[in-house]
Amino acid sequence: MKTERSAELFAQAQRSIPGGVNSPVRACRSVGCDPLFVASAAGCRLVDVDGNTFIDFVGSWGPMILGHAHPEVVAAICEAAAAGTSFGAPCALEVALAERVRSAMPSLEKLRFVNSGTEATMSAVRLARGYTGRRMVIKFDGCYHGHADSFLVKAGSGLITLGIPGSPGVPGDIVKNTLSIPYNDVEVLEQTLRDEKLDIACVIVEPVAGNMGVVIPDPAFLRTLRRLTAELGIVLIFDEVITGFRLAAGGAQERFGIEADMTCLGKIIGGGLPVGAYGGKREIMDMIAPEGPVYQAGTLSGNPLAMAAGLAMLDVVGRPGFYEELEEKSAWFGEELEQIIARSPVPVVVNRIGSMMTCFFSEGPVTDFTSAMRADTERYGQHYRQMLAQGIWLAPSQFEAAFISSAHQRNDLEKALTMTEASFKKLMV
Ligand SMILES: *Cc1c(COP(=O)(O)O)cnc(C)c1O
Repeated sequence: MKTERSAELFAQAQRSIPGGVNSPVRACRSVGCDPLFVASAAGCRLVDVDGNTFIDFVGSWGPMILGHAHPEVVAAICEAAAAGTSFGAPCALEVALAERVRSAMPSLEKLRFVNSGTEATMSAVRLARGYTGRRMVIKFDGCYHGHADSFLVKAGSGLITLGIPGSPGVPGDIVKNTLSIPYNDVEVLEQTLRDEKLDIACVIVEPVAGNMGVVIPDPAFLRTLRRLTAELGIVLIFDEVITGFRLAAGGAQERFGIEADMTCLGKIIGGGLPVGAYGGKREIMDMIAPEGPVYQAGTLSGNPLAMAAGLAMLDVVGRPGFYEELEEKSAWFGEELEQIIARSPVPVVVNRIGSMMTCFFSEGPVTDFTSAMRADTERYGQHYRQMLAQGIWLAPSQFEAAFISSAHQRNDLEKALTMTEASFKKLMV
């Protein structure tokens, strides 16, 4: 595989940008590679600057549920751009997208748009604190909620990949207001939430974890979480930045039949442009300025290009049969993968729900942060490099999800399966 042009760009990038990248995991260090620079993408394929083509299973880390450059999304962006790229005043597209999201996720009685998932979770927690007048945030080990100060405690995503528990630059005074407890552990959950001294404002959770690799919630865990937070007046925040419009139009809430008090969205709702949103019960959302005293604002929030892209994407996923078809394709892929795993010379387990999944290089089962951390990351690195060389683009970390989009055709998935089996056989035992 030719990589000269990527290598040149990477060398140049490192002179201007820390690590040569604008988000750490992209540097591919944990898989022992240098990053490839992407020139273009269409459908389920990426083309790098050296002309290599890859079948993409990262999907820009979640948003590209329709694949890349979907014609309806591109057309919507172009049309919006021609009418002006930012107004700093309300526009009709914001209202349309808000209504679209609400009709898919009824627990969001009101919502506000921001520019990233990080902004959504950060604002949701501020609001939950303002609403309850309490202090503590409960999160779960290995869950990632963006890079705001309060969440950099035993966080997933790039922090696991880089092997760091938190981050310098986050004052202890802030971190002491966040408590991280094990995912899927009902006993610790009950004990913690019932501790009145903790002064708990909210619990924030990925209802399906995607940032320590995919970890499926025990239904009893989510039910207990809902029951206890309701009983104790704690705001339950579902971080559905990945799962919203991924697992169903109504996200994990629809899938598991549980409604959160507040929900954070991102990724898919922006159609590939930078968008986040947070929303929930009317009485909570009405605490936000200008209705209420809790402050949150944004120069580019509700940006017309981003709203148009999101609307176009939600239009397509809202058509009859969209999720059924994606589920069927993903289930078939998952079953084939299970058979390949059964023949694998090295231990692998797959966690899959809908079109998101992770193969962990371990004996499994993987149900929480501790069990996820038992995965063999060296082996993942070797698998990653072998797959890349065969034209399969995976996340450059063991602790991320692989996504299937509506643009993946049967023959793309078959190729990926063949390459997976060949790669497993070449792994050092
Ligand atoms: C990606 C992600 C975020 C952060 O979103 P950004 O747009 O990267 O700031 C928050 N929560 C979850 C669950 C995510 O997967």
